[in-house]
Amino acid sequence: MHLSRFPRIKLCHAPTPLEPMERLTKLLGGPKLYVKRDDCTGLATGGNKTRKLEFLMADALKQGADTVITQGAVQSNHARQTAAAACKLGLKCEIILERRVKDATPAYENSGNVFLDKLFGAGIRHVASGTDMNAAMEKVAEEIRGKGGKPYVIPGGGSNTIGALGYVASSLEMLHQANEMGLRIDHVVHATGSTGTQAGVVCGLEGSNSGILVYGISVRQPKDKQEEAVHKLASQTAEMLGIKGGVTRQMIVANGDYVGAGYGIPTPGMVEAVTLAARYEGLLLDPVYSGKAMAGLIDLIRKGQVFSKKDTVVFLHTGGSTGLFAYEDALLKS
Ligand SMILES: *Cc1c(COP(=O)(O)O)cnc(C)c1O
Repeated sequence: MHLSRFPRIKLCHAPTPLEPMERLTKLLGGPKLYVKRDDCTGLATGGNKTRKLEFLMADALKQGADTVITQGAVQSNHARQTAAAACKLGLKCEIILERRVKDATPAYENSGNVFLDKLFGAGIRHVASGTDMNAAMEKVAEEIRGKGGKPYVIPGGGSNTIGALGYVASSLEMLHQANEMGLRIDHVVHATGSTGTQAGVVCGLEGSNSGILVYGISVRQPKDKQEEAVHKLASQTAEMLGIKGGVTRQMIVANGDYVGAGYGIPTPGMVEAVTLAARYEGLLLDPVYSGKAMAGLIDLIRKGQVFSKKDTVVFLHTGGSTGLFAYEDALLKS
């Protein structure tokens, strides 16, 4: 795989650390747990979307865009990182936020990522849950074109083949680090939502024949739907990269058991996982993605499923701690 064939601009502080989680490993009695710190990508409190934006923003600039448009949930980490990247590159940014979470608190509506979106001067529009977000973005693009502007539309979560390249890059970086450290990795576990992260990681790790298994934990859709969606994007990305044999359906695993009542709605397991990571590792997870993924990892370890005590498991930390400030009530109440 030769990523330099694709336009890219540097936005990430990389390589991000690959660190042991010694106290959490001890608490759970194995497997050996490591964390790949993609919460530390640097841009505006960091996170996984910065990886994708290195390729997406380069494409936007190549096409002569003066405005980027994107969408997400109200507390979208992707929207916040896109707004920050736009500032750094001197582009305008328009964000459409979907009111996906019912009965949201004032903190959810205004704090965390929303506060930062405003600090970055992004244009913000709110729409109701269930809105056709692609159509909504196209409408904004039309308005901008009408005024003589040049819009570039970034899909939700930055998840298309171009964005997925960011996670090909991240997983190759992790593999290189593991080889330098003499660390044998058996599994990589992470939260999966709009699919670009898992599609990229699978392409990176399968495309280099690493033998590392990728285990996604869904934060929104049930298992089958999520796996189908990841497989579709992973296949397209593999084709773009020219990976021999492509990506098979069996390479895609997404557990759907830890979503709870829905996207962005707290679960007891998430609250426990966020609290344990904080108190045993001094590590900040987030309530919507990495907290639910860690809840899944902890539960599967306790049940003795998927991972054996002898395995080495890397938790790919995708960021999102800025969203903690929107969930203070849910996290401290219990
Ligand atoms: C967007 C996001 C994810 C999910 O990544 P996808 O590429 O959308 O599947 C995971 N964690 C955090 C913190 C995110 O913001």
